Amino acid sequence: MDGDVRRPARVLIVDDSEDSREVLRVRFDATGYETTCACDGAEALRLVAESPPDVIVLDVMMPRIDGHEVARRLKADRSLPFIPIIMQTALDEVERKVEGLTAGADDYVTKPVEFVELEARVRAMLRIKALQDALQRRESELESANARLSELAVSDPLTGLDNRRRLDERFREMFEHAVRLREPLAVAMFDLDRFKQANDDFGHRAGDEMLRQIGSVLRTSMREIDRVGRYGGEEFLVLLPGTPLDAAVTFAERARLRVAAHRFSFEGRDFQATISCGVAAWPDPRLLNRDELLQAADDALYVAKRTGRDRVVRYASAEFTANVRNFHDQHGSGAPAGGGFAIGPR
Ligand code: GH3
Ligand code: MG
Ligand code: MG
Repeated sequence: MDGDVRRPARVLIVDDSEDSREVLRVRFDATGYETTCACDGAEALRLVAESPPDVIVLDVMMPRIDGHEVARRLKADRSLPFIPIIMQTALDEVERKVEGLTAGADDYVTKPVEFVELEARVRAMLRIKALQDALQRRESELESANARLSELAVSDPLTGLDNRRRLDERFREMFEHAVRLREPLAVAMFDLDRFKQANDDFGHRAGDEMLRQIGSVLRTSMREIDRVGRYGGEEFLVLLPGTPLDAAVTFAERARLRVAAHRFSFEGRDFQATISCGVAAWPDPRLLNRDELLQAADDALYVAKRTGRDRVVRYASAEFTANVRNFHDQHGSGAPAGGGFAIGPR
């Protein structure tokens, strides 16, 4: 037996004749195996489901569920590990053997059974099972490693939030969805205030911890369907589907206040931080695609920084247009450029 723990191999003996069962049981027990017996196909299936043995010695001729049917059902059950089946055929007929192997038997012996031969075949089957089991373990390790890898590819290791790549993907999906269903979509871009200074004052590790805690403040401030991710070093992007500009600003204000009220603690030290935010929403006659929507939030964030930090600035508000770089060069005098559409009361 190959396996983590050395233990006797478990043989399930299935035969409707009590005499035949007993003969095999006594011999297997005496050879160091652990045996279980079933007197018909139904009992065999039940015992295997309860606790899969390492090998099955299976009689063919049994009333109701015969050996072939048992083999077929066991081999069709994908939840079971590989369990070798050695069929016992009473008749030394070629068709019988072929039928048994086709049904799923891995080997066969003919009755009357020569125990020495049967036991040798059992050992051979157990070697194959050990290889099969190792292969299966390898496969499932590979599967979970792959799952971890694809998780890593889309999440930010520091905060556990979506990374930029995943956010871009979500943003694309949400924007397409919004356009198709003519629903609003808001984006809020957050950036820590004077974070360079915080790193200098408290250390880079404390800075990392601040990023983690801000991530969780943002996550717990939004709705289930919103997405938050780390967009850059100290930038967080929140995507708010179905949300018009006013509601998005309300959310951003709430998040900003919660960050400002949050006491960060790291290695026994407490400190505070503030965050600035730019908010934009689609549809807007000036924002023709999602790049422009994101850029609008980014421009609003720039204005929030420029006008004192710890603030939320909405795209195209009076202070936005007064402070943003070259707004009128970019967007003319605010005349609708077409492409957007009005939805609902605004
Ligand atoms: P402002 O209020 O204008 O945003 O000032 P700021 O200092 O936050 O902005 P600046 O862009 O000058 O500096 C950003 C800092 O963020 C610098 C960089 O060291 C820090 N930073 C970026 N990513 C990380 C990170 O993963 N961990 C830590 N600890 N710091 C980071
Ligand atoms: Mg029989
Ligand atoms: Mg910053």
